[in-house]
Amino acid sequence: MEGESFKDQDRDLRLIKALNIQAGLEELCLTRFDRLTATGQLIYEPSTAETIEDQGFKLSFRFAPHLRRKPITPADAPERTTGEGHNPFLDPPPSEVLLSIEPDHLLLVNKFSVYRPSLLLITREFVPQADGLSRNDLAAAWTILCHFKEPYMMIYNCGFESGSSQGHKHMQLWPYPDEQELGFELFPNQAKSDVYVTDDISNVPYKHFVLRLPMNADLVTLGHAYDELLRCVRQSHYEAGKGTDYNVILVKEWMCMIPRRHSGLDRGAGANSAAMLGLVWIVTEAETEVWNSAGPAEYFKYLGLPR
Ligand code: AMP
Repeated sequence: MEGESFKDQDRDLRLIKALNIQAGLEELCLTRFDRLTATGQLIYEPSTAETIEDQGFKLSFRFAPHLRRKPITPADAPERTTGEGHNPFLDPPPSEVLLSIEPDHLLLVNKFSVYRPSLLLITREFVPQADGLSRNDLAAAWTILCHFKEPYMMIYNCGFESGSSQGHKHMQLWPYPDEQELGFELFPNQAKSDVYVTDDISNVPYKHFVLRLPMNADLVTLGHAYDELLRCVRQSHYEAGKGTDYNVILVKEWMCMIPRRHSGLDRGAGANSAAMLGLVWIVTEAETEVWNSAGPAEYFKYLGLPR
């Protein structure tokens, strides 16, 4: 939570726990993901993508029709505020659980996936997805990111308008995309400073805030970066006159936040943190039309806050 701080002893404990994560976790994620996909328990299919450019901003449309089966919890459903009703994360199937990260989290394979493997980091108890990330959430995500040999990214869709489909707090992790294959670099990579927030990357159509992270950043630095970016998000919602929701993207090299005002579901094409980076998942043909009607750059301005 904002303003919350890690005590030194907590930090030490975290580092010890990070070292204790089982060797082979990264391999386990893949083998479990493949096994459950083969038996139909996970909904995943390899997908194809095409890269386009609009108003100087490059993005990729990835066609993932299998996500049609993914349920979306409405904005006003009790599941989002109290955890009552259908909550797939309260008692997840043991076959989907990969690891318990003390004290609060479970690492799962994701039942509806676009990337191989896609993982979920959920809170054990119900916490609303509209809450910001706590220090323990950040620590759990950071532990995994630092433990894996391959580069991974973590996304968090905070609140309904940020594109979250479930109301129980969950972060998502998957391998960092191959930028050669994409044909572009994810824009937060262009941020240079780990002191001053970057908010002016060229051709990004919407407000964005990025901090580079120092090499081997500790949890205290991570927490400060989170608070600083969140302050910028809140300021921009305040200036816009409304809004609370935002996307968080974390990799070992940087953290990025994007304030949101619309999920896109109201227009027929929802967008989460990945979409705001330019990694757009297209589930139905109609969604392509929504993105293209005024052009993706204009649609991005509707989803986020125009610069
Ligand atoms: P988001 O759309 O960001 O809220 O993420 C929700 C995530 O939960 C999606 O990535 C879904 O694939 C995932 N998920 C995993 N298991 C389930 C389930 N049983 N029902 C709905 N979503 C699920």
